Amino acid sequence: MNTLAPNVLAGKAALITGGGSGLGFAIADLFAQLGADVAIAGRSRDRLDTASASLRKHGHRVLPIVCDVRDPALVQHTVDTAIEQFERLDILVNNAAGNFLVRAEELSPGGWAAVRGIVLDGTFHCSRAVHEVMAEQGAGVILNIVATYADSAAPLVAHSGAAKAGVLSLTRTLAVEWAGAGIRVNAIAPGPVPTEGAGKALWASDEASESIRTSVPMGRFGTAEEVATLAAFLASDGAGYITGGLFPVDGGLSVGASLFDSRFAHLLRD
Ligand code: NAP
Repeated sequence: MNTLAPNVLAGKAALITGGGSGLGFAIADLFAQLGADVAIAGRSRDRLDTASASLRKHGHRVLPIVCDVRDPALVQHTVDTAIEQFERLDILVNNAAGNFLVRAEELSPGGWAAVRGIVLDGTFHCSRAVHEVMAEQGAGVILNIVATYADSAAPLVAHSGAAKAGVLSLTRTLAVEWAGAGIRVNAIAPGPVPTEGAGKALWASDEASESIRTSVPMGRFGTAEEVATLAAFLASDGAGYITGGLFPVDGGLSVGASLFDSRFAHLLRD
């Protein structure tokens, strides 16, 4: 259910990497519902076409662009194509990612490089490519989708944790460097949200899924719509004084770990 004002993103143009599935698709869908033209980028043409057909129901322009964000030339082409089509670019969402569970000592250099390439290099290439148009407009918004472990230890996902921590650093640096150009840069840290990518790669079994659910203080998974709602607010003019921030949408996961939790209740005096 959308809780933001209708047309709050009217007249804006957005580019969402990994917008063909999961959280990226939910963000693209809400942006389009709120009046934005949206370009979605990813490697699979079929996935982008299916997503685009659904996004067009909102009545705004939808542009699927095949792109591997690890390649700076393809990224530049993607940004140029979106600007040519929309004649502006107001919002970039760096959402594309890959991930898998592995012990750090068993992580291959190729696996490390692949995840770092998509998450950290891809975020840099895309951000760098949109700077010129956003600076010319005197306004722009970049949203980086990180994870709760971007700011803490990331056991079994060292590659993703290091890359997301790098993205968080980049978020803060670009927020300061580009504030004078009118470009706001923020990071969103979702908690566990069942998506095709996350479900298959990170908690395939019922046991793993239940263990993740119970470690969230609110006791449930998040929804893609809840993440998209935060993204839409941060992308809107209502968030005009917000930059350099890290915003969890995680049911309390990032602040939940405590030395004394409910297991210690028996130690309390009546
Ligand atoms: P997802 O469905 O697997 O989405 C990942 C998207 O990234 C896909 O559309 C994929 O499309 C695209 N992608 C992957 N590699 C790419 C590349 N080299 N170039 C361009 N696009 C690429 O996963 P998700 O759960 O929605 O995750 C979305 C974001 O949220 C990620 O940044 C993830 O780290 C973050 N996140 C998710 C959760 C969660 O629980 N779901 C929690 C914390 C953070 P193609 O394969 O077609 O390229």
